[in-house]
Amino acid sequence: MAAASPDSATSPFVIGSVAIVGAGTMGLGIAQVCVQHGLPTLLFDINADLLPKAQAAIAAGLGKLVEKGKLTEEARDAALARLHLTTELTEVRADLIIEAVVEKLAVKHQLFQEVAALNPPTAILASNTSSLPITRLAAPIPHPERVVGLHFFNPAPLMQLVEVISGAATAPAVAEAVYQLAERLGKKPVRAADAPGFIVNRVARHYYVEGLKLVEERVAPLEVVDELLESAGFRMGPFRLMDLIGVDTNYSVTAAMYEAFHFDPKFRPSRVQQQKVDAGYHGRKSGRGFYEYPA
Ligand code: NAD
Repeated sequence: MAAASPDSATSPFVIGSVAIVGAGTMGLGIAQVCVQHGLPTLLFDINADLLPKAQAAIAAGLGKLVEKGKLTEEARDAALARLHLTTELTEVRADLIIEAVVEKLAVKHQLFQEVAALNPPTAILASNTSSLPITRLAAPIPHPERVVGLHFFNPAPLMQLVEVISGAATAPAVAEAVYQLAERLGKKPVRAADAPGFIVNRVARHYYVEGLKLVEERVAPLEVVDELLESAGFRMGPFRLMDLIGVDTNYSVTAAMYEAFHFDPKFRPSRVQQQKVDAGYHGRKSGRGFYEYPA
């Protein structure tokens, strides 16, 4: 049988509106990029307290672009007018739904099941997962051919790269539609196969895992590891970067990759990091991680 046509002229997957689920570190940034590039965007989170903060953070992000002369005040106002925030799941209806919730397969499955029931089969369900297999994510979802990986990097408004990941069932037309969307958002999309950690996280995982081992083995304190790597040319040392990413999110990604690589010791998660997660020291977003961030 012939594969589905990726020809955008005949594709049923046309993206004129976006809904983002999860107004955390990533959801916020992705929403900013979407409204900035002309897409009506709904931002949904189960935590009502987060929504005013999300609105303020997006306004601040767009405001910085105005200050730098990259956006006019009118364009900023128009972008903000395209943003709608909600805690009402039934409002999550759009041509493209991007989930950016916690890195847990069961949570993402439940969410996609619920969202699939609210939307037609031509609504694309994209995941911003850093590590979970798209094939496994899609398998129990009705019409798994519309499930795709759309992996933005942190901070989403600044980072150019976006990985587009096709699972075993993903229709070529769906991958093509989100690839073209990423270009419309001013990003540089890259197609990746559905291998654990895709491209970037597979390579970058060792930056965190080995950094944590250095500290566990008392080779050097974490501040020294960060300073050394920053002086060697990395923009952020591994500990400062984990605090930016979210220590909990980073830990979940390592744990998922460890499992996906059949418990290969080179991906083994760190107890030092697990303890931070258990203590609620999740990095910048919680005010404390490997470093402290007074409010
Ligand atoms: P986060 O913890 O900052 O935010 C997650 C948000 O999801 C929270 O606001 C939470 O309230 C919300 N949420 C949880 N369950 C929900 C549900 N069922 N419905 C609606 N909202 C729900 O997480 P994050 O760092 O933004 O990561 C989100 C996803 O993006 C993860 O899959 C992660 O692996 C991926 N990712 C993260 C980064 C990063 O640097 N943080 C980079 C790339 C990809």
